[in-house]
Amino acid sequence: MSTRKRIVVIGGGFAGLNFIKYIDKRKYEVILVDRNNFHSFPPLFYQIASSGLEPGSICFPFRREFRKGRVHGADYRMGEVQRIEVDNKRIVTQYETITYDMLVISAGSTNNFFGNDDLIKSVFTLKSTAQAMRCRDEILDRLERASLSNDPVERKKLLSFVVVGGGPAGVEVAGALGEMKRYIVPREYLHIRPDEISIVLLEGSGNLLGAMSHKAQSKALKYLGDLMVDVRLHHLMKSYSNNVVTLDDGTSISSGMVIWTAGVTGCKFDSGNRLPIGAGGRIEVDEFNRVIGIENVMAIGDIAIMHTERYPKGHPQLAQVAIQQGRLLALNINSGDFNRPFEYVDRGAMATIGRNRAVADIKSVHLSGWIAWMAWMFVHLISILGMRNKLSVLIDWIWGYFSYGTSLRLLLHTSRFPLRWRWGEK
Ligand SMILES: Cc1cc2nc3c(=O)[nH]c(=O)nc-3n(C[C@H](O)[C@H](O)[C@H](O)COP(=O)(O)OP(=O)(O)OC[C@H]3O[C@@H](n4cnc5c(N)ncnc54)[C@H](O)[C@@H]3O)c2cc1C
Repeated sequence: MSTRKRIVVIGGGFAGLNFIKYIDKRKYEVILVDRNNFHSFPPLFYQIASSGLEPGSICFPFRREFRKGRVHGADYRMGEVQRIEVDNKRIVTQYETITYDMLVISAGSTNNFFGNDDLIKSVFTLKSTAQAMRCRDEILDRLERASLSNDPVERKKLLSFVVVGGGPAGVEVAGALGEMKRYIVPREYLHIRPDEISIVLLEGSGNLLGAMSHKAQSKALKYLGDLMVDVRLHHLMKSYSNNVVTLDDGTSISSGMVIWTAGVTGCKFDSGNRLPIGAGGRIEVDEFNRVIGIENVMAIGDIAIMHTERYPKGHPQLAQVAIQQGRLLALNINSGDFNRPFEYVDRGAMATIGRNRAVADIKSVHLSGWIAWMAWMFVHLISILGMRNKLSVLIDWIWGYFSYGTSLRLLLHTSRFPLRWRWGEK
């Protein structure tokens, strides 16, 4: 039996893993509970969906990570946390109940369908590696079936894609589909004419990449135009059924595949209403990431909402915020005294729309084109966990750049049924 106080961490994403890296494991027994046995890198999910990278390049097993380095000494337990009992100081997964002295909630966010939860059955999403792989399989399957069909109506249905949401994920996946249409289809799918493929990107506001500069927004619009993506601003999707997307102005688009990137909400737990849930389904925390009104429970990353003077509506749900909160919370706990409030250091924002096409806002400097694309690749490469993964991504990118061939585009038919909620299907 350990005599150290036990800290249970729910979720080994950017926030949870950085917390574990910095918490003093000689002083605390640290247990990570995650529904997946690996850490993944969401900013590159779109490259899995568009067959740019293999899933193994952006995922890293916790058990291997915990053998060495700064995270050495933490314990991993697989499970999806369903209930948090703050009075009994314990959490409940589908497999076991674990008690804690301190709890760190870093479970991130999930898809938000804004009340239309039935959409999960008909649209494709990008919030986990498994969801990105489903997108990839569906796209490849559609290209193969369209190659076999002589019926123009069927071909149109198979080759019409709608991406909902003009944030970084939506822009990047639409750009990647545009690249497939422009570079891959003419080379490899000889029975499909590129102009048979339609890609529509829907955005409810008047701009793409809402959090970025006007310069970045207009460049992104231009780059998507170059890749033959039909961008429709000021349009909201109202419903989707029978392969028809209905928009808020009453018009409709026929589409066989809708990729939903339009919204996120904090992951949910049954806590008997004890967790204070604020805007965006996020848990309310103070400036030290302590959950308001509950002792010894902290929340960090996407799932936490902290109101500060600079960010009265909470911080943006970005990897850098999660990383910085994870690290600071660990340092505050190590010191035994919560005396360093969180202040977000904004290192800028980036998005890529395709080869040689990216935008970056780094403080007051705005980059676009090839230079922004190189900066984007560098930043993502150094952020991926594991040397093997860094090398594998680098080789894939260099190979893809010169050969226009991306990953092998194998259609492995990952099973869609039975729906396993623990693989992120919820
Ligand atoms: C497609 C996409 C593109 C993005 N692009 C960018 C980008 O370019 N730049 C950027 O800064 N940010 C980007 N983001 C946002 C960024 O990924 C998040 O802000 C960041 O991952 C948040 O870190 P986190 O640790 O809070 O949550 P996550 O990284 O989501 O980690 C949460 C972890 O909790 C686990 N988990 C969830 N629920 C449970 C449960 N009930 N029980 C056990 N485990 C659970 C999950 O398996 C996961 O490992 C993107 C996100 C997506 C989805």
